[in-house]
Amino acid sequence: MNLSARSPLSLSARLLVPLLVGAGALLQSLSPDVGVAQVVRSGPPTCKAVAITFDLCPVRKGPGFDVELIQLLKDRKVPATMFMSGRWIVRHDADTAALLAVPFFEIGTHGQTHAHLPLLDRGQQRVEILDAVSLLKSKYGLATTLFRPPYGEYNDETVEVVRTLGQRFILWNVVSGDPDPSLSAQKILDRVERAVRRGSIIVFHANGKGEHTREVIDRLTADILPKKGLTPVTVSELLSCAQVATP
Ligand SMILES: [Zn+2]
Repeated sequence: MNLSARSPLSLSARLLVPLLVGAGALLQSLSPDVGVAQVVRSGPPTCKAVAITFDLCPVRKGPGFDVELIQLLKDRKVPATMFMSGRWIVRHDADTAALLAVPFFEIGTHGQTHAHLPLLDRGQQRVEILDAVSLLKSKYGLATTLFRPPYGEYNDETVEVVRTLGQRFILWNVVSGDPDPSLSAQKILDRVERAVRRGSIIVFHANGKGEHTREVIDRLTADILPKKGLTPVTVSELLSCAQVATP
């Protein structure tokens, strides 16, 4: 190997890295040994699939999840990825077990207490992130590798902690806005339809906070995604998608 030919390339790669932070799709094309943990917002743009994801942020009252929504996903066998907060898991043991039992659901974590991570120091962030991962492992025997920060908030330390814990940092590139009570089902659908494309990761909520989430998922999976030739898959499937786009 000609080292003198290699070093200018490495140097430009290092110089480029700060410019690429935030550009999820581009970051994914960089080798992990570049030294920057990845913040994933989407899968390969060549992949004719999308990941429908649901956050399970803590809820004080009522059932842990929107029962009709989960039933719809199960009836249609829609692969989905659920990001569970530790506090939600603790309060909803039966619901947690029910979701873990669905073979086409993938499970990730969403922090223990749903804290604003940038307000915490590195050690506190580590505890907040790891506690939910440990809870799923110790109580349910499930090893999870996907993490989504509460509120989508993070700083450099969050990214580093997630990396050292061996987790993948999963955000989104399509916001449904489903917990917003001022948005109608049609408005949410229009927004998702405009934004969704190959490799998209779409964020919804399954904890009953989204009044129209079930209706939106119904029309999205029955109409919009098929019309666009996009197949729902889990986040892990999306990130490993090797499909090559046809013109
Ligand atoms: Zn949340």
